[in-house]
Amino acid sequence: MQFYLGHAFFIFNQIAYFTASTKTLAMPNDSTLLNTKAQAQQTFDAIVIGSGISGGWAAKELTEKGLKVIMLERGKPLEHIKDYKTASLDPWEFPHRGRTTDEQKKKYPVIHRGWAAAEAVMDSWTNEEDCPYTEVKPFTWWRSYQMGGRSLLWGRQSYRWSDLDFEANAKEG
Ligand SMILES: Cc1cc2nc3c(=O)[nH]c(=O)nc-3n(C[C@H](O)[C@H](O)[C@H](O)COP(=O)(O)OP(=O)(O)OC[C@H]3O[C@@H](n4cnc5c(N)ncnc54)[C@H](O)[C@@H]3O)c2cc1C
Repeated sequence: MQFYLGHAFFIFNQIAYFTASTKTLAMPNDSTLLNTKAQAQQTFDAIVIGSGISGGWAAKELTEKGLKVIMLERGKPLEHIKDYKTASLDPWEFPHRGRTTDEQKKKYPVIHRGWAAAEAVMDSWTNEEDCPYTEVKPFTWWRSYQMGGRSLLWGRQSYRWSDLDFEANAKEG
């Protein structure tokens, strides 16, 4: 009798284990062990590369029109507000009073050509040692690979657009 009870318990355990494992394998509303919706779940109407201002607006427009959109971003993830570590610091709260170090000057030579090299934002620039580029003629390229791209660095100047701006590509390439 004891054997049969133990045997039944063993079988019950096996059924419980099998049910639990099928639950983790199957997708919601799916048939047992087979994800029949995988293709539909991974199919998109549009792919937006980059989450900067251009990609952000493209995604906004497309999703508002009802398209299923996936956005790919090569840079680090970043949470709005929470990850703006230096945004509300006063100048005297920075170890170098806002200036960059000699080491940073060596590591980020392109950024140091202009006015954008500041202690508060050095973590936001793309590492120039890891991502060098060839300059056939002088080309100062400020890159920021992160969620939101360079929108996190811009100087809050919002210019009014004119007709010229919308034709510039066609006229100037
Ligand atoms: C310091 C600074 C101050 C500025 N101040 C102003 C201002 O006051 N007023 C103004 O109008 N403009 C200003 N600008 C310019 C403005 O910020 C940029 O023109 C604008 O943010 C660019 O947006 P974008 O989406 O075209 O490019 P980005 O913001 O560079 O976005 C491109 C995104 O694509 C990602 N990406 C790139 N390649 C790939 C890939 N292969 N796969 C996946 N993801 C990829 C990048 O990581 C990045 O997130 C300033 C720029 C800087 C740097």
